Amino acid sequence: MAESDSAYLLVSRVGGETERVCVHQEEVSGHDRARLLEAAVGTKTVHLCRGGAGWEGVALKYGVCENLRKLEITGVSCRDVYAKCINPRVKSGRFMKILPDYEHMEYRDVYTCLLHRYRHILGLWQPDIGPYGGLLNVVVDGLFIIGWMYLPPHDPHVDDPMRFKPLFRIHLMERKSATVECMYGHRGPHNGHVQVVKKDEFSTKCNQTDHHRMSGGRQEEFRTWLREEWGRTLEDIFHEHMQELILMKFIYTSQYDNCLTYRRIYLPPSHPDDLIRPGLFKGTYGSHGLEIVMLSFHGKHARGTKITGDPNIPAGQQTVEIDLRHRIHLPDIESLRDFNELSRIVLEVREQVRQEQQQEGGPEDAEGLGRQSPQPCAEPPAEQAKGPGDGGAEAAAEPPAQSGQGQPFVLPVGVSSRNEDYPRTCRMCFYGTGLIAGHGFTSPERTPGVFVLFDEDRFGFIWLELKSFSLYSRVQAAFRNADAPSPQAFEEMLKNIQSLAS
Ligand SMILES: [Zn+2]
Repeated sequence: MAESDSAYLLVSRVGGETERVCVHQEEVSGHDRARLLEAAVGTKTVHLCRGGAGWEGVALKYGVCENLRKLEITGVSCRDVYAKCINPRVKSGRFMKILPDYEHMEYRDVYTCLLHRYRHILGLWQPDIGPYGGLLNVVVDGLFIIGWMYLPPHDPHVDDPMRFKPLFRIHLMERKSATVECMYGHRGPHNGHVQVVKKDEFSTKCNQTDHHRMSGGRQEEFRTWLREEWGRTLEDIFHEHMQELILMKFIYTSQYDNCLTYRRIYLPPSHPDDLIRPGLFKGTYGSHGLEIVMLSFHGKHARGTKITGDPNIPAGQQTVEIDLRHRIHLPDIESLRDFNELSRIVLEVREQVRQEQQQEGGPEDAEGLGRQSPQPCAEPPAEQAKGPGDGGAEAAAEPPAQSGQGQPFVLPVGVSSRNEDYPRTCRMCFYGTGLIAGHGFTSPERTPGVFVLFDEDRFGFIWLELKSFSLYSRVQAAFRNADAPSPQAFEEMLKNIQSLAS
């Protein structure tokens, strides 16, 4: 196979964090290439799994006895508390079978050894997994506490529902001790471990990683992962850069073997005068596939923060920023097809934004615009838009009805989109900036773009410099224990996940 000899793959660690996959290939056909890439998966040698960081002895002393006494004093029995915390399906045969000792189990045990002990891990979490991030919801389900990992649908179907799979579960197998099981892999639950590191942070560990291995070796694991993650085979993915990105993600993420650290995240708080309801969205990111983005409102700006990320823009970074003071009025549909025309309009607004920034001059405003500054602005959410600007800019407070419902929309010729079936009418558009960077988040830069609001559940972003379009669709899944205790706690969380990413 002379052809195969011209292709090789190198996996290395750069700076202890990043992995680089280099593929040199001359004239290797797509099929050969796919085969070579797959074969190379078996040669990986790098291990990133963290171990030994104080796993021994999970000492969680949350004053269980005191609480119980308080409950007794106030006349609330453990049974009542338990019935309130879980759904009442416990009597069904399903759980009887799983827990043969259920009849002898006391609610008090379930409460103290399971619900109370692990109450700090309930909620929404983002794993620390290099640039990739993720979304985990830990919930009480029957007699279990289950950690569900949520995954975007297959690229490019943004309107499809989220997929989810359990990564771990905790339940009482014996009266007084909760059992943690790792659910990773395809060979059923096995021995795992959960440790609360500190407030708003916990770790999981698998004690039997051999359960993650498949009989067909790394290649079978890769093919299975690919089928789940992308719904396709490597041969189906003709785009070479995409093949490399996919392979890199597999090699990087699979080495953690479900040994992960999670940081708490919150859903954004909403206000009645928000443009649309804030929340999580699935968005198209070209060769990176679909990613999860959190849309939140901050006075005169809206932000899209990556919950999942990629080697260019990691999870935690602010992918788009929308300037709600600067509407963009699209030209008629024929002129809109002309990319140069749209580009002219957007750059005009950008110039206007720059001038306003200079005139107003205050550091607060410069920060508010977020230009070249990865830090979220610190202005209180109560601060309202300053009113209509000059020329094409209008206040965000303008009701949608005034802007005319359902303006025809089409992408300019030359702007690429992962899906052709994007909405053909939009409600309104705003000037915005999108973050672009090289591999490894090198030379990040906020570049001009257009935020297109289609409806309550969908929006788009035209990346002017990339000549590409991202379509975002609302995540409809209901997450439990995910609300921020206060707007300040939410802002703090955003700041934290961003600083960890950079
Ligand atoms: Zn495991």
